[in-house]
Amino acid sequence: MHDRHFDTDKLWADAVLYTRERSPQSFEQWFSGVQYDGIVDGVLSLRAPNEFVRDWVEQHFVPTLSDYLRSQTGWSVQVAWTVGGDLERPVCDGPAPQPVSVRSHARPQFVLDRLDAVPAPSSTRASRTQLREVPPPLALNAKYVFENFVVGASNQLAHAAALGAAGGGGPRHNPLFLCGGTGLGKTHLVHAAAHRIREDRPAARILYVSAEKFVNEFLQALQDHKMNDFRARYRDRCDVLLVDDIQFFAGKTGTQEEFFHAFNALHQADKQIIVTSDKYPQQLEKMEERLISRFTWGLVADIQGPELETRIAILRKKAQLEKIELAADVVLCLAQSIRSNVRELEGCLIRLAAKSSLLGQPIDLEFVKAELAASNVGRVSEQSVEDIQRVVTHHFKLRSGDLLSPDRHKSIAFARHVAMYLCKQRLKCSFPELGRAFGGRDHTTVMSAVRKVEGLRTSSADVRAQIEAIERKLGSLD
Ligand code: ADP
Ligand code: MG
Repeated sequence: MHDRHFDTDKLWADAVLYTRERSPQSFEQWFSGVQYDGIVDGVLSLRAPNEFVRDWVEQHFVPTLSDYLRSQTGWSVQVAWTVGGDLERPVCDGPAPQPVSVRSHARPQFVLDRLDAVPAPSSTRASRTQLREVPPPLALNAKYVFENFVVGASNQLAHAAALGAAGGGGPRHNPLFLCGGTGLGKTHLVHAAAHRIREDRPAARILYVSAEKFVNEFLQALQDHKMNDFRARYRDRCDVLLVDDIQFFAGKTGTQEEFFHAFNALHQADKQIIVTSDKYPQQLEKMEERLISRFTWGLVADIQGPELETRIAILRKKAQLEKIELAADVVLCLAQSIRSNVRELEGCLIRLAAKSSLLGQPIDLEFVKAELAASNVGRVSEQSVEDIQRVVTHHFKLRSGDLLSPDRHKSIAFARHVAMYLCKQRLKCSFPELGRAFGGRDHTTVMSAVRKVEGLRTSSADVRAQIEAIERKLGSLD
């Protein structure tokens, strides 16, 4: 997918126009609550003030938006939602959404989120007292609970650790560092831990923020000379700190310093900290060593891509939650086609359901296959480590098995490093998985190989040409 060939902002504007023409009057009302944050690699980023708006827009408008985007670009667009926070640039001007009928479970969340968006007046004693009694609002996804999380070999450790951190039995590691590729359930587990703590200990002061929000709050506090408030919030008035996507701190030295002190204060007071990241601590770029080292003090639990059985179970669970009927052969077909990412799996299911109700067709095998073919899903991920090893072996004229052997002859080691790099780039494999796939090597070996080739790719024209030649061969395998 090459966004650079398209003017994505214009595409988005056209998609909005197209959807508006095909939508009921409520379009303005709902889109005044949504912010467009860009399209990158076929992922459309939208922001909603709460889940209710998100769910509504997702159900009623996203299918049309995606269809339009796909018709123009051929991409199967995924939507990445951010929920909560203030909207700086809503898509439409208009009154904020005021749903007349709200599903019963959505309402409290909606009310809480409005509270979050509008600072409560602090001028009266009564409202101050009230604020102190009510735990601060948490922008949690109501569906991200432990009960809805399917446990399999790929996420067992992370799941158990999150339960433990929530005080739900088992050892409590502090900090808990959850890492894994995108769409594999990190945010789900952190929300689940927060839900659980809130149920078990309603008085606990839980702070859940994305790293991005932490950065923004920090900068705002600096600008407004309110660092004392900020520090009190993150160090004193906090019993549990949950920070999502910590890799976002990369290169932000001021934030890292501030977080370091908050971390120390909380850790010393034995307050639970959970951090998520798309990388292992040691792999985090532009991150202070002392922070990286603290991230490994407790437990680092990684989540891998789910295996087939888990994917099947997840699909069943989602279908049940969304009240979508799926035959066993359909479940199997989907689980076999979409391998790498649970979010993709879920997105496809929702798209199928939307289409089937729009077209009045049942979700049978034929329907699913047509949809999969149209959206091209799973193409890249169908390539395996073995495919890449085979192509690299052939390219460097090695004997089969050389890449897996203990042989550390220079030319073989180089080919091996390139193969590891390509696997990491193109497949959603973890370092330990790759270590195993390359003759049982340690994951740190793979990590340093990948880093080395990354560096060489930039610094050496020759290496770059070699890699591109292999990539072309791999591309023609798709
Ligand atoms: P991440 O934060 O790792 O990018 P998310 O937690 O946002 O991923 O998960 C993406 C989607 O996949 C969510 O809708 C989540 O509910 C779902 N998901 C991921 N793993 C599981 C699982 N094991 N069981 C059920 N749903 C899952
Ligand atoms: Mg996440």
